[in-house]
Amino acid sequence: MSAEKRQSMINFNVPPYTGHEMEYIRQCVENQKICGDGPYTKKCNEWIEKKMGTAKCLMTTSCTHATELAAMLSQVKEGDEVIMPAYTFVSTANAFVLRGAVPVFVDIRPDTMNLDEKLIESAVTERTKAIVPVHYAGVACEMDTIMETAQRHHLMVIEDAAQGVMSFYKGKALGTIGDFGCYSFHETKNYSMGEGGALLIKDPKYVEDAEIIREKGTNRSKYYRGQIDKYTWINYGSSYLPSDMNAAYLYAQLEMAEEINDARLGCWNRYYENLKGLAQEGKIELPVVPEGCVHNAHMFYIKAKDIEERTALKSFLAEKDILAVFHYIPLHTAPAGLKFGRFHGEDRYTTRESERLLRLPMYYRLTMEQVDYISDMVKEFYR
Ligand SMILES: *Cc1c(COP(=O)(O)O)cnc(C)c1O
Repeated sequence: MSAEKRQSMINFNVPPYTGHEMEYIRQCVENQKICGDGPYTKKCNEWIEKKMGTAKCLMTTSCTHATELAAMLSQVKEGDEVIMPAYTFVSTANAFVLRGAVPVFVDIRPDTMNLDEKLIESAVTERTKAIVPVHYAGVACEMDTIMETAQRHHLMVIEDAAQGVMSFYKGKALGTIGDFGCYSFHETKNYSMGEGGALLIKDPKYVEDAEIIREKGTNRSKYYRGQIDKYTWINYGSSYLPSDMNAAYLYAQLEMAEEINDARLGCWNRYYENLKGLAQEGKIELPVVPEGCVHNAHMFYIKAKDIEERTALKSFLAEKDILAVFHYIPLHTAPAGLKFGRFHGEDRYTTRESERLLRLPMYYRLTMEQVDYISDMVKEFYR
């Protein structure tokens, strides 16, 4: 591809940038505070606790690591089973596989691509320890049903809210409904620090253990707060603290979270309006946001008739300088999924729907003109 052509390409994602990031990172460098749990990490923790309404937020090096922490805090052990969708990122499963647990995949709902809450109960066995709902595209799973099922069977609920920062379910922020919530601040997410994440903890009784595991198994967090005069090795653990420079990058966006959210929603709604006609003609399907769900425009996807049509559409858009991408290959069909997990019941929708889905460009500062152009090209394909 020529340099000229690459210039005009509409990328699928552009990392968020508000303009204050460099100033905040410079402060870290000048103040010689660049390791973990510095001033910006604290600001991010506090911002998330206040905005989302959770007992505790601990910034982590990734959502993957937040989920690993949640798996340890939930006491998931060898041979335990953990119910989750197969239509998700590998980390949702890996965090539990690392503890020796078996991911039990349950089919998704075709409307939201989320775990079908009605199928969870039939997958529960004596070994089931936890349910891991993944809020796909920042649209909430049916959490009332999931929490009821969990309570009935004494299961932990760990929300993979990697895509759900600033999304709500019946007024509650995603990530604050289950026992633990995991956020991602990867470059491809709505708010970013390059690589990073956060663990949200609902019940304060887990906070001390979480702080210890996150700090290499030591009580250094207590030491930093002046609660003890030396710190020591207390438990198993690892290093899940991001550098304060990364937190500084993120904080610049959290400060402008509403603005970023509104801009993304503006694009999402424009796509929806532009493509509604095609959906009414039955040519494509559009995302569904159920009652009670407030989403964050993490993603705008459309569904083609089948995988062949999707491949053709993706190539057509690429010719028009639009980078559209498909998403997860269902985990139960991947080599590690076959080795470590099992699918419960019938795969009615997971594979079929995942093969139809195409994600259109979506990022902060995508312009309305670009959205209109992309929508026109989708319409042209179907003409
Ligand atoms: C992005 C993502 C993750 C992983 O996030 P990292 O911060 O890159 O570890 C996990 N689950 C889902 C659903 C994601 O979208």
